[in-house]
Amino acid sequence: MNPTIVLLGGDGIGPEVVAEAVKVLTAVGARFGHGFRYEPRLIGGASIDDDGMPLADETLAVCKESHAVILGAVGGPKWDGLPGALRPEKGLLALRKGLGLWANLRPVTVHPLLTDRSPLKAERLENVDLLFVRELTGGVYFGEKRRDETARGARAFDALTYEEYEIERVVRLAFRLAGQRKNKVTSVDKANVLETSRLWREVADRVAREHAAVTLEHQLVDSCAMRLLTHASSFDVVVTENMFGDILTDEGAALVGSLGMMPSASLGDSSVGVYEPIHGSAPDIAGKGIANPLGTVLSVAMMLRHSLALHDEALAVEAAVDAAVREGVLTADLARTHARSTSEVGSYVARRILESGAAYS
Ligand code: NAD
Repeated sequence: MNPTIVLLGGDGIGPEVVAEAVKVLTAVGARFGHGFRYEPRLIGGASIDDDGMPLADETLAVCKESHAVILGAVGGPKWDGLPGALRPEKGLLALRKGLGLWANLRPVTVHPLLTDRSPLKAERLENVDLLFVRELTGGVYFGEKRRDETARGARAFDALTYEEYEIERVVRLAFRLAGQRKNKVTSVDKANVLETSRLWREVADRVAREHAAVTLEHQLVDSCAMRLLTHASSFDVVVTENMFGDILTDEGAALVGSLGMMPSASLGDSSVGVYEPIHGSAPDIAGKGIANPLGTVLSVAMMLRHSLALHDEALAVEAAVDAAVREGVLTADLARTHARSTSEVGSYVARRILESGAAYS
């Protein structure tokens, strides 16, 4: 297989962690006999500096023609003063919209050797292995926005709408993924208050009837937020709408306690997905060679699985990351004693993959 992978390093530590992802992917290619073709492009502040736009049309076109996109992060103080439409984050939104990415997947797992990095007690983190499936292109973030004046002052309006098909496709994805995991879907809503949530429930119930092997439970978003802190191990796949997902996935990240370890995937109708760590561009540590590359490397594992259907290759990457944690080959955010550089951690993971079997010639 010779897939084309677009590399959007972006800003700050983005290019540093993407470089390690490429190192790891190249090792996967050598180990399993694939010739990955890389197409490096600019996004975010780096693209603004280059041609004034956070995402060039040509870059989006190359992404559409590719098999998958690996993204670092965008943004930084240099571009904070720019008007809204020209800010680095607009590049991300344009990419998601341009590729029609309507689902965001964020796995939350806590490595047993890293439980002390979490603000929660270790016993609350035992067996935590859940997957958030967040709707990404609908809901209140995309609804009509308005402001007007009333006799009592300003009034603001954000419309929250969902169409049935938008709910159905993301719930179906959640059921399919649960079928490959522990066969349980928790659908999160606010059905006691919101009409969109009542529609969400109806659709989830209908999809559930087609998946007899998967159990569906409904949970209100407020109690879900609490259960994440008290019984996170009771979740398998959690599917929810855009804004609830935005908030709950960050709570999930806090649970793990290490931003640098967490991957994500954004998927849509085509097989082209965008794979990125959940952290930002970390301007405070950019250029120092100390950023943790493992969130990006684990995003590569998600890419191998979801966009390329290379399941053994994905497992090999995850096993090599596990080895890095067990051997303590970690950057300063996680290391107990001798912290390694970004590049050392990436090289270690790549070497473990190559050593896991004879390389193809
Ligand atoms: P951030 O995630 O960049 O950093 C938060 C803290 O975590 C910092 O102390 C940083 O040093 C640390 N950190 C983050 N990633 C790390 C890694 N891989 N290894 C070690 N430490 C790591 O969040 P922020 O500081 O709020 O935002 C910085 C910039 O990133 C802003 O411009 C923001 O808009 C942008 N941002 C971009 C994305 C994205 O591109 N998807 C996401 C979040 C924030």
